[in-house]
Amino acid sequence: MRYLVRHLAIVVAALSICIWAAGCKMPAGSRPSAPVHHLGTSGGAIEVDTKELTGKKEITDDPVFYAEEISAEVFERMRGKSYPENCPVDLSELRYLHLAYKDIDGISHDGEMVCNAAIADKLTEIFRTLYENDYPIEHMSLVDDYDADDEASMSANNTSCFNFRYISGTKKISKHGEGLAVDLNPLYNPYVKEKDGTIHVEPESGAAYTDRTLDFDYKIDENDLAYKLFTEAGFAWGGSWKSVKDYQHFEYDPK
Ligand SMILES: [Zn+2]
Repeated sequence: MRYLVRHLAIVVAALSICIWAAGCKMPAGSRPSAPVHHLGTSGGAIEVDTKELTGKKEITDDPVFYAEEISAEVFERMRGKSYPENCPVDLSELRYLHLAYKDIDGISHDGEMVCNAAIADKLTEIFRTLYENDYPIEHMSLVDDYDADDEASMSANNTSCFNFRYISGTKKISKHGEGLAVDLNPLYNPYVKEKDGTIHVEPESGAAYTDRTLDFDYKIDENDLAYKLFTEAGFAWGGSWKSVKDYQHFEYDPK
């Protein structure tokens, strides 16, 4: 027992010196995986892991924004889902993006996206700027996590890009099929089509957000930072279309 107490005292003393030194920099590999908040009173800073406070996961304190080629591991997730058999888009035309994002509570997460190589740099820069400006994004993972079911991905408010498909009734590849379109916070920015007095909404669960005169979180309009960044980078916004409104949708035409 006495040994234990003494041992504890040594540990406490060592920790005190470490804190006093204030430099006590841990090697990069052992840094805490969550941002730390300083909750100290009267000068005594206490570092608290926000992951413990919120219970949220996937937190990073080292946001990264970069593109890489589609690895075998990523392809395995896409195969038969967003990348069907006989997909005419060559894998070499696609890129896997690491995009950090912040949720509405300002917590950082590691996001991922597959896009066309032609817009990889543009998206990397756009999402870096969104991150730096605390632009809220609820979730960002591959549509393959939803079995490439667009409705399921949109209902989960998942921000995504590549999902191979032809424009219905044609042999023309859709912009998402080429990895040239991004759907941002789709639940709150639905696709709306009005025909013969009937309103069709995708995702269906986004029906509450078709009234764009209302004010709500994640809403994209022409005053929105994402709208500004995407359009400045040469993307068209589906919210500007006349026949249908696709408020979540930004697409790029590289030609
Ligand atoms: Zn879209």
